[in-house]
Amino acid sequence: MANPNQEIKYTKLFIDNKFVDSVSGKTFQTINPANKKVLADIAEGDKADVDLAVEAAERAFKRGSVWRNLDASGRGKLIYKLADLVERDMYILANLEALDNGKTFKSACGDIFHSVGCLRYYAGYADKITGKTIPADYGFFAMTRREPIGVVGQIIPWNFPLMMLIWKWGPALAAGCTIVLKPAEQTPLTALYIAALSKEAGFPDGVINVIPGYGPTAGHAIAAHPNIRKVAFTGSVEVGQIIMETAAKSNLKKVSLELGGKSPLVVMDDFDVQQAAKIAHEAVFANHGQSCIAASRTFVHENIYDEFVKHARDLAKNRSVGNQYEDVVQGPQVDEEMYGKVLSYIESGKQQGAKVETGGNCIGNSGFFIEPTVFSDVTDDMKISTEEIFGPVQSILKFKTLDEVIERANRTNYGLAAGIITNNIDVAFTYAKAIEAGSVWVNCYAAVVPQVPFGGYKQSGTGRELGENGIELYLETKSISIKLPTIS
Ligand code: NAD
Repeated sequence: MANPNQEIKYTKLFIDNKFVDSVSGKTFQTINPANKKVLADIAEGDKADVDLAVEAAERAFKRGSVWRNLDASGRGKLIYKLADLVERDMYILANLEALDNGKTFKSACGDIFHSVGCLRYYAGYADKITGKTIPADYGFFAMTRREPIGVVGQIIPWNFPLMMLIWKWGPALAAGCTIVLKPAEQTPLTALYIAALSKEAGFPDGVINVIPGYGPTAGHAIAAHPNIRKVAFTGSVEVGQIIMETAAKSNLKKVSLELGGKSPLVVMDDFDVQQAAKIAHEAVFANHGQSCIAASRTFVHENIYDEFVKHARDLAKNRSVGNQYEDVVQGPQVDEEMYGKVLSYIESGKQQGAKVETGGNCIGNSGFFIEPTVFSDVTDDMKISTEEIFGPVQSILKFKTLDEVIERANRTNYGLAAGIITNNIDVAFTYAKAIEAGSVWVNCYAAVVPQVPFGGYKQSGTGRELGENGIELYLETKSISIKLPTIS
């Protein structure tokens, strides 16, 4: 159950099914953002460690290896077993996640629950990855095989540490790849714990490797490695660009990216305003606003604007903030850098003339706490309308017509997600068709489930995780054509 003194058992790199020190012997600290206290010293991986991890992953992927000889259903069984172990240790993982990231214990439990479902979804997929037989011209008997890409690198962020790992491990393992993963430097604890569970589940040596460390060192070594055949990344646009460039210049490894967003949520005037305000509130404040899909532009029809703003203000005012183990819904921001960045966006909103309805300040200085903040009178050109804030800040904009709001909602380089709240099916579908975003939610928000693809248009990324599309990211297609003596 909830335990603020959760023991931290695993702090070393995980290579070839063993916990080891880094080659350099260096360590870095991970802290609790609610009180800035050090939780643990973690082995700091760098290029030399990534090289060792890749060698282990290559051995595990070699033709004739235990992993390669396993039936597809055998891979599925191992993933199911891992899901069972994550479920068994759900509270340990939730404590580690809450302490490391700052999210409440309750919401960490929600993340772990989602992660178990995602693992089981992909466990079931392992023996359903099939090719085709194809009616080829000139009498060839042609077929395709779907094969694992090989050794893959995975670099993940700190906002949903275990969930982001599972979104990448599930399909990669189901496909039969071997993995070198780097967790975010802010949140390495659950990645190391689940590494231990993967060994307990029975994954062969080298299939899973976890290298905590920093981006420009360990992360770069993954993106640049000549023997890694694919890199999957979730994080900022800036780093996504670096990863793509590094991947291209090293060995043209395949790249999938899940980057930021500036997602619009449109509220029409035909819906219960209080209910709409509740949906919009959760859509932006969930996970302290530290979510790539956060609905950070709330467009509200002019007929209900004032009433909506009043509800939005009340909801944010009543949003409870505290540490992970208090009876609250919002914890601290993840670290000092993000805390400073969010506060500077709030300052820019004030400077550029948006009206602070509530919040707008930090809370104390014992941890990285920020008041849930609502801005009204926001215009399209303000920084809080155009840049990803990644914090508990709602920006409310006014619109008159559907065509106008579609045009304004699409006026961004991002395209991860969008939402609309309306009782009019024509309006809902017109919006859903016109909006340039990978996910569109109607009368709900953040309906993110393992079965449904997720990813971005424009600079929000390339490729889709989750669902069948998630598996595609880890597969090659091989065509085999056979010349037969007769055509019929
Ligand atoms: P980031 O992109 O800097 O870091 C994400 C991951 O990439 C981390 O594991 C980091 O160590 C690694 N990394 C950093 N530099 C690297 C490099 N040169 N080569 C390889 N790997 C590298 O994100 P952040 O600093 O954690 O947050 C900054 C911004 O990123 C946020 O404000 C937000 O806009 C965005 N973000 C988006 C998501 C998302 O889910 N899409 C998640 C977290 C952060």
